[in-house]
Amino acid sequence: MNKKEILNALKEPFKSFDDELFKLADKTRFENVGDLVLLRGLIEFSNFCNKNCLYCGLRYENANCHRFRLNKEQIINYAKNAVELGLETVVLQSGEDFYYKEKDLIEIISEIKKLNIALALSVGERPIEEYLHFKEAGADRFLMRIETTDEKLYSKMHPKADFSKRKKTILKLKELGFELGTGSLVGLPEQSLNSIADDILFFKEVNADMVGVGPFIASPDTPLKNATDGSFELALKVVALTRIILPYANIPATTAMETIHPNGRILTLRSGANVVMPNIVDYEINKNYLLYSNKASNQFGVKETLNSIKDKIISINRIPK
Ligand code: SAH
Ligand code: SF4
Repeated sequence: MNKKEILNALKEPFKSFDDELFKLADKTRFENVGDLVLLRGLIEFSNFCNKNCLYCGLRYENANCHRFRLNKEQIINYAKNAVELGLETVVLQSGEDFYYKEKDLIEIISEIKKLNIALALSVGERPIEEYLHFKEAGADRFLMRIETTDEKLYSKMHPKADFSKRKKTILKLKELGFELGTGSLVGLPEQSLNSIADDILFFKEVNADMVGVGPFIASPDTPLKNATDGSFELALKVVALTRIILPYANIPATTAMETIHPNGRILTLRSGANVVMPNIVDYEINKNYLLYSNKASNQFGVKETLNSIKDKIISINRIPK
């Protein structure tokens, strides 16, 4: 699909979840990555952040965020739990928290890799040499969303952050040999459909191995608290179009999709997605990792939530792995 076709698809008014676009994305998913739904244990290990992204509840100016950090032992134990739960990948995610020095993260990575599982990092922007050392320590993947390719909007949303640095970092991660995950927010205030089409082309340009997309969800205690949430249907179109232009990519049905729509995860899995990242940190800790409000949670237990996700996957004739 070229830009014009992508843009036309984005402009088309939403009719139903059985529309041609979603069907085509589902077919493309089936033909290229099959019926497996890859489960990745998400360990959100620190909500301290030295960035101030306007949309995010973890931004450093948010004094109402109850901050927590897991120590090395806790993080490694959660990875061990992941193995016990039958998961084959863990994702370590956090705010940009330099309390964890390079050597701390390397130690955590090395210990987790002894468990023979795949490891993805999503710890934000750090010095490039550190990424190299994380790779050498065994980290397999790195997730860093571009958020938006609209440079003007990017600078509005990210005080003092630099779009070209973000883009260079993403390209560098790929060059260092990480499996690259990127992605975007859909429905940021003043975001145009034209720039969303560019976001999709960006995923292709960097040849992303994984693409995480979700609607912007207004978060209390942020400058965007009164902004309108992004649309589930538009985010779903972005997922579908991403599948069509990157047929082999791993595409998660993100937590934001489940948060904004009661059946969001399943609808996303039926429109091109093939990955789910259940949170495996206990709810009492995890409830404070609040990027946005009403985050879909595991308050009825980690194992129980995982099992209920698996049941739902099976109910649409897919195979959780
Ligand atoms: N600090 C790291 C990783 C954690 S944030 C980073 O920023 O790269 C993970 C993702 O959460 C971000 O990439 C962003 O796209 C998403 N996010 C943050 N606030 C959000 C909100 N209000 N609505 C939807 N997604 C949000
Ligand atoms: Fe920090 Fe990531 Fe939130 Fe930005 S999106 S404030 S970098 S946690």
